[in-house]
Amino acid sequence: MSRRLPARAPRDITEVAEGRLCSGCGTCAFVSPDAVRMVDDLAAGRRPLQLLPASSSSTRAALRACPGAALAHDPQAVPANADPGLLPGWGPVLEIWEGYAGDPELRYAGSSGGAASALALHLVESGGAAGVIHTAARADAPLLNETVISTSRDEVLARAGSRYAPASPCDGLAAADRAGTSGAAPYVFIGKPCDVAGAAKAATERPGLREGVALTIGVFCAGTPSTAGTLELVQRMGFAQPQDVESIRYRGNGWPGEAVAVGTRDGEKYEASFSYADSWGAVLQRHRQWRCHVCLDHTGEFADVSVGDPWYREVEPGEPGRSLVVVRTERGRRAVAAARASGALVLERVANDVLPRSQPNLVRTRGAVWGRIATMRLLGLPAPRYRHMPAFRSWLRDLTPRDKARSFVGTARRIRARGMRRPATVSESAPPRQRTDAS
Ligand SMILES: Cc1cc2nc3c(=O)[nH]c(=O)nc-3n(C[C@H](O)[C@H](O)[C@H](O)COP(=O)(O)OP(=O)(O)OC[C@H]3O[C@@H](n4cnc5c(N)ncnc54)[C@H](O)[C@@H]3O)c2cc1C
Repeated sequence: MSRRLPARAPRDITEVAEGRLCSGCGTCAFVSPDAVRMVDDLAAGRRPLQLLPASSSSTRAALRACPGAALAHDPQAVPANADPGLLPGWGPVLEIWEGYAGDPELRYAGSSGGAASALALHLVESGGAAGVIHTAARADAPLLNETVISTSRDEVLARAGSRYAPASPCDGLAAADRAGTSGAAPYVFIGKPCDVAGAAKAATERPGLREGVALTIGVFCAGTPSTAGTLELVQRMGFAQPQDVESIRYRGNGWPGEAVAVGTRDGEKYEASFSYADSWGAVLQRHRQWRCHVCLDHTGEFADVSVGDPWYREVEPGEPGRSLVVVRTERGRRAVAAARASGALVLERVANDVLPRSQPNLVRTRGAVWGRIATMRLLGLPAPRYRHMPAFRSWLRDLTPRDKARSFVGTARRIRARGMRRPATVSESAPPRQRTDAS
């Protein structure tokens, strides 16, 4: 008979992955490189392979730092001037700005207005950081991602744009830890909300991060599609084999920009593009990992600054990109003010209600997640543990009776249809490498 998931919190990193609580951020592999190795599982995402037993101190440290299993705000650490109206649903918010990178090439290449790249680069160019730890297409397998450190404008520019595919930027935090421990210049860290939460949690296990990270920038995220999403996308684009793809961008080069893949077909150069609606809307978002469906933080609540799309109005065709910039800490406020003063960011202050108006789907998501987690617990499945991140009130207030019912019944159906009572196995997949003449 096949093994069932235990109805309790995970006891090690293997159980986090088996219980589908892993978001793939890579925090565990950074905190305990001897105990965990991240691999690409094409059907699931970036996943940890645990190398030491649950009882080892390394494995225990990795589990303590895991933001997939448990996540909590520290009420003592929330700035006193955070907007009390937004705090329960959106985390600490000090200021909200709308604007774009002052560098037109960064603005064009960026997912929205290139604000994340411009803010990070400004810190590097002004001497406040040695480099940027973030995500890029993997050099030898362009359908996958890897963690990189950018130290120049050209590198930051080449890596601008959201990649709607698994990425583990926390596995690159060792450079920041070393810098913090040795007194060297710190790094900027850019990641999705789960990545930034992982970096924040990791600082309790690796105190070097406190000095070694100059700023954390979170990009809003509705969920990460597995690599299977990218494989379906390039197949629909007309590529016979994934190995025929030389490069893929998901967004940017315009706003919201198109998904563009370049490679070969029938031995000839071939390029295909899908609109944002046809790539994210019709293909990628269907491949989001389960952990993202039970995520309460889609806007980078643990970051110093988070950046998303100001989708509170229609984007005109050909309109240049704009970003919503959410300042969450005093450190973030100083960084944004300095980037603005230098012209690296061109920003105007907007009312705080622009945040919920820009992401109306996320208003309901919080409540729906409460219903999904309650269903998982009722059915005896392990679920993420959240503290000081309220969601029940949103379930009560923001969901229609139909949506309320769906958050329970729909989740129960999904659990059955996807066989989620059984542990998810992690299988390391061979990367779809780009074909070379010899292959
Ligand atoms: C999986 C995913 C889901 C998203 N969902 C939403 C959403 O629901 N709402 C919304 O407004 N925006 C969403 N975005 C887009 C992104 O948050 C916005 O475009 C944001 O405004 C950043 O734009 P920018 O031009 O300032 O960033 P850019 O200047 O383009 O910089 C983007 C930065 O993100 C890093 N990055 C790229 N891909 C990843 C990745 N997979 N994981 C970690 N870091 C990465 C890059 O290295 C780069 O540093 C999503 C992005 C991703 C990757």
